[in-house]
Amino acid sequence: MLSVKTPDEVLAVIVEEFAPRLEKELVSLNAALGRVLCEEIRAGEFVPGFDRSTVDGFAVRAADTFGCSDAVPAILTLDGEIRMGTPADTPLRAECCMAVPTGGAVPPGADAVVMLEYTERYGDGTIGISKPAPPGANLIFKGDDVSPGKVVLPAGRRLTVQDIGALAAMGIAEVPVCRRPVVGILSTGDELVPVEQQPAQGQVRDVNSAMLRALMEQAGAQVKSYGIIRDQEDLLDQALKTARKDCDVILLSGGSSVGTKDATCRVIEAQGKVLFHGIAMKPGKPTIFGKVDGKPVIGLPGHPVAAFFVAHLFVLPLLARLSGQIIRRFSVPAVLTETVGANHGRAQYTGVFLTERDGTLYARPIHGKSGLITALAGSDGYFCIPRDCEGVPAGETVSVTLYSVD
Ligand code: AMP
Ligand code: MG
Repeated sequence: MLSVKTPDEVLAVIVEEFAPRLEKELVSLNAALGRVLCEEIRAGEFVPGFDRSTVDGFAVRAADTFGCSDAVPAILTLDGEIRMGTPADTPLRAECCMAVPTGGAVPPGADAVVMLEYTERYGDGTIGISKPAPPGANLIFKGDDVSPGKVVLPAGRRLTVQDIGALAAMGIAEVPVCRRPVVGILSTGDELVPVEQQPAQGQVRDVNSAMLRALMEQAGAQVKSYGIIRDQEDLLDQALKTARKDCDVILLSGGSSVGTKDATCRVIEAQGKVLFHGIAMKPGKPTIFGKVDGKPVIGLPGHPVAAFFVAHLFVLPLLARLSGQIIRRFSVPAVLTETVGANHGRAQYTGVFLTERDGTLYARPIHGKSGLITALAGSDGYFCIPRDCEGVPAGETVSVTLYSVD
């Protein structure tokens, strides 16, 4: 008998049954993109470490420029030049200015920088300033970016390009991250042949191994592929025994529905326990969640589109759970271009293609049976029709969840 869960219940089971368990490791900043922080990152120093000019110009005391104009420039004595990469130790005296390049240090006593465009060198050691600079103009002060102790990135953050920039600025050359999860992938089915092989009548190519590998790698996991396993319980049993030694998560696909050849459930039961069998969703109902040695073993549906949605909706959150990752998934409102029916008591997930016209997003739904994986190619996201809803008419706004994850 299937013990069917709703999608929300599945997410709750993931949290209940699996705790963060991936150990910490230090990686160099150059290898940190896409890794999950296992500790919050606090600034250890001031960024910038000194007051800096944001323009090429002259460091001044703002008060010395008050009231100046094109007609009546303020005339200040040029008292030296700050060079890039060197400190500005000599305080700026009243009625004086110092030349400073963009990014250069601003001397003590100066509280503004006047852009070169509003100045004139008279050639006698004085500079004419034709525009008043209010205090703080064209400079950033020491610590404006961050000061020591400020939390810049939270634990669980999956590092993006922008984050790498911030870590570099703070001098964090080694980053504390969670070990990457190792995900084992097994495809089951007598009809499956490897991608590079021409299928004979009745055979199909193994889509799931390649697709799931891509999804898992995109999510930051390391993948071990165990290839195609024939529909024989002892072979599957053996493959799972090998995979459970090497992997943190095991994904089996195919053989998850209730049928004589569907050995996945029995094999998981023999080596551990089945947490539930069946999710009230379409596509994707025949899904098994199990636990062996405390590790998740997931029996995904064989239909590639169903396997895709189940993996996206539940395996990604599961991976995130194991590393304590904060999941960031975004939805956008979009106008549905065609009516989509649903009436089967299960949450229905429909892939869509997004286009933008005059500032409005339109979602064109994918039609087709769950086996048609090529229909999914090129799609941008999906929307969900709840189990108690009979469909969504064309013209209605739906909330489209984007596939792209950080
Ligand atoms: P099953 O879950 O084993 O009953 O399979 C359901 C459907 O998905 C069948 O049509 C299978 O041929 C197909 N299928 C199973 N595994 C794969 C796979 N790895 N790649 C492509 N199609 C598959
Ligand atoms: Mg099968």
